[in-house]
Amino acid sequence: MDVQEQAKVRELPVLGLVLPCYNEQEVLPETTARLCALLDRMKASGDIAADSAIFYVDDGSRDSTWQLIDDYARQGGAVCGIKLSRNRGHQNALLCGLMTAPGDVLISLDADLQDDLEIIPAMLDAYRKGSEIVFAVRSRRDKDSFFKRFFAESYYKFFAFMGAQIIYNHADYRLMSRRALETLREYDESHLFLRALILQLGFKTSTVEFERAERYAGVSKYPVSKMLALAWQGITSFTAYPLRLITGAGAAVSLGSIVLAAWALAVRIFTDDALPGWASVVIPMYFLGGVQLLSLGIFGEYLAKVYESSKRRPRFHVELVCGRRFGAR
Ligand code: UDP
Ligand code: MG
Repeated sequence: MDVQEQAKVRELPVLGLVLPCYNEQEVLPETTARLCALLDRMKASGDIAADSAIFYVDDGSRDSTWQLIDDYARQGGAVCGIKLSRNRGHQNALLCGLMTAPGDVLISLDADLQDDLEIIPAMLDAYRKGSEIVFAVRSRRDKDSFFKRFFAESYYKFFAFMGAQIIYNHADYRLMSRRALETLREYDESHLFLRALILQLGFKTSTVEFERAERYAGVSKYPVSKMLALAWQGITSFTAYPLRLITGAGAAVSLGSIVLAAWALAVRIFTDDALPGWASVVIPMYFLGGVQLLSLGIFGEYLAKVYESSKRRPRFHVELVCGRRFGAR
């Protein structure tokens, strides 16, 4: 594409909205209505091309999510769908959408209307001004529970402390240009933590702020267990710092034991005091046992990652697609 063609694409891009969905039958009618209205408005005002569409990725839902998506697609409007063969988790479903959906720009967002749609024109403006990636960032977190807020803040701090890059208060609501998407395709990681991975791409980026609403309907598909798993995924995929921490702890304990031995020797040689009793033996034993088990566990986690990666299993399988942009009528 030459410079003039690129400028033309930036003026009137084909936009794709990518939404992973897992058991979202309660929200889909409202989400679809709002997204279609938004696309119609933006097409009418000449902000996006007529081919712009919505791409739902059904992440192996067990309710009627796919039937709904298929019905909307059959109505011949802007809705398209990709159905995964089973539940692969939000990050894999999102990646599938980003790698499958056509368009000059894709914007990923959640299906539950927590991500404010009104900032989409501003995100496109940033793209028009040359950004290849636009991160939507939450301006406040006061609607979150105390636990979620505390957890998120500590996590971002810990992530930065370990020397890994992450954008404060950004999840997966972002715009990516075709060029950024094609670059992302070159990364072949089996353990995904997209919000940090995308920072590896480089290019010109910008941020747009928004306020996150409550989930429109239904319940969160990210229980604490999944949230912790994602957090751990982020740490182990982006830094070996925990392993270094273990090495440091091991060195500190060994050094401490040398000092202790020297002290015991000094007591023996220079005083008549009896050596302290069982506590000095038993407590360090339990303590060191615990440290060793924990270390083995963390070490095992990294090893398991190498094992999983070495199998090079695909991250998802597409079972069905629907909608005009995929050639269906
Ligand atoms: N999701 C998914 N697969 C899963 C879990 C969640 O595709 O295994 C989708 C879900 O349908 C939603 C998005 O990921 O569109 C974010 O999930 P949710 O809103 O439940 O998370 P929360 O906002 O509560 O953290
Ligand atoms: Mg949500």
